[in-house]
Amino acid sequence: MVIGVLALQGDFREHASMARFLGVEVRLVRLPEEVGLVDGLIIPGGESTTMGKLMVKYGVDRAIVDRFNAGKLAIYGTCAGMIVLARDIEGSQAQPHLGLLDVTVQRNAFGRQKESSEEDLEVQGLDTPLHVLFIRAPVIVRTGSSVEVLARVTQGPVYVQQGRLLASSFHPELGSDTRVHEHFLRLAEQSSNQEV
Ligand code: GLN
Repeated sequence: MVIGVLALQGDFREHASMARFLGVEVRLVRLPEEVGLVDGLIIPGGESTTMGKLMVKYGVDRAIVDRFNAGKLAIYGTCAGMIVLARDIEGSQAQPHLGLLDVTVQRNAFGRQKESSEEDLEVQGLDTPLHVLFIRAPVIVRTGSSVEVLARVTQGPVYVQQGRLLASSFHPELGSDTRVHEHFLRLAEQSSNQEV
């Protein structure tokens, strides 16, 4: 199994080192042909408008959607990556995005006075709370019927799954708790087994 990390912009290095720490082969993905070499793809945090534009410029957006629709890819988006994955972006629908995850997101939903925060989150399927970091984070304001909410804060859902798509408003790659990445590796493993 190979895990790709989209490396056009944002904190891709931190995701790559967490995935490597968990013992999987990691490949940084920048070009369309590299998408075909991975079973799972992490879309990092960063700035979603810039990341979306770069994805279009490199032609990597089409490659991701095609491989996902062919059933050969699991995708995990964190923060800006969650915005890029979403079907709808409140107030900025024109920014390039993949539209795969059936949610509407609101960018920078925690207000300027709260640029970043740490929280202990109750997460579905985990025995103990997950300690996570939010940085100018989005929140989900609509979830489609096939979307499962794995964690929420008072503002709304912040961690969701829709089959082989996983998305979080927070940044597990910037902490030491590896449980979100472990969960994602299991989804990617299922995709890679389907190929055989
Ligand atoms: N605020 C950023 C955006 O809207 C996301 C921030 C992040 O990824 N930490 O793109």
